[in-house]
Amino acid sequence: MIMNLHTHTHHSPDAHQTVAERVEAANRLGLRFMAVTDHVEINRYYPAEYYHAEPSDMYFYNGKGVFEDSMASVAAAQADCAPLVLLAGAEVGQIPQDPEKSALIYQDPRVDLVIGSVHELPGRPDFYFLNYDEEDIPALVTAYFEEVLRTAQSDCYDILGHLTYGLRYLPDRRAYDLTPHLELIDEILMTVIRKQKAIELNGSGLRKPKLYIDPDLVLVKRYRELGGRYLTISTDAHDTQYLGFGIDLLEDMARTAGFSELTVFRKHEPFTVSL
Ligand SMILES: [Zn+2]
Ligand SMILES: [Zn+2]
Repeated sequence: MIMNLHTHTHHSPDAHQTVAERVEAANRLGLRFMAVTDHVEINRYYPAEYYHAEPSDMYFYNGKGVFEDSMASVAAAQADCAPLVLLAGAEVGQIPQDPEKSALIYQDPRVDLVIGSVHELPGRPDFYFLNYDEEDIPALVTAYFEEVLRTAQSDCYDILGHLTYGLRYLPDRRAYDLTPHLELIDEILMTVIRKQKAIELNGSGLRKPKLYIDPDLVLVKRYRELGGRYLTISTDAHDTQYLGFGIDLLEDMARTAGFSELTVFRKHEPFTVSL
């Protein structure tokens, strides 16, 4: 197993186990590169009190605190993690909602890589919490990809996170026809390519009852066809039991899409490892 560049630890409000435990498991699995990328929802960078809000399971607050705790744990674990290469990262949600604070994370000297993700549209909760019976789904999906495009156009990320997250919780994701959105998706992919950033093959859907990969093979092939070179693999593990889950399959998928290399970022500099 080459890499898992998207993982969460107990510093994220929805994940478990320490960085040290993850490192131990990564070495057991024979992972060569692992990035810890705890949640920084940049639109709620400060604790709930700052926003006069109550902490809740629906909204993660205090991205700044999560980031600091995560960085400290990773730095401590980096001292003794061999043979694993442990990278310090963050999954920054909603970059277009606060590019200035996103830049603070991106430019932090401790950071190797940032995953830029859209979990929410402005003023809306995470896609997980939407009531899809009440949504105009094509309009929602368009708004999602427009927000992903704004993220891709920013300078505050290295890897565009789970490209098709906005489809994840649709009542029938597999049946949803992406054709009307392909032009916009091409624009996102070409932006990523032009900026020499990466997309990820996110395998978290491999542990769901209705299997999926974010994005699917068709879109990864399209990325390659358009000239995409930088691809990462991740399980988005929130628990150690999923650290290596499906990585072999994701590596096969990358090969099928035409990739012979994967990409790692160290201090935002991409380097490739053969697949
Ligand atoms: Zn995410
Ligand atoms: Zn994640």
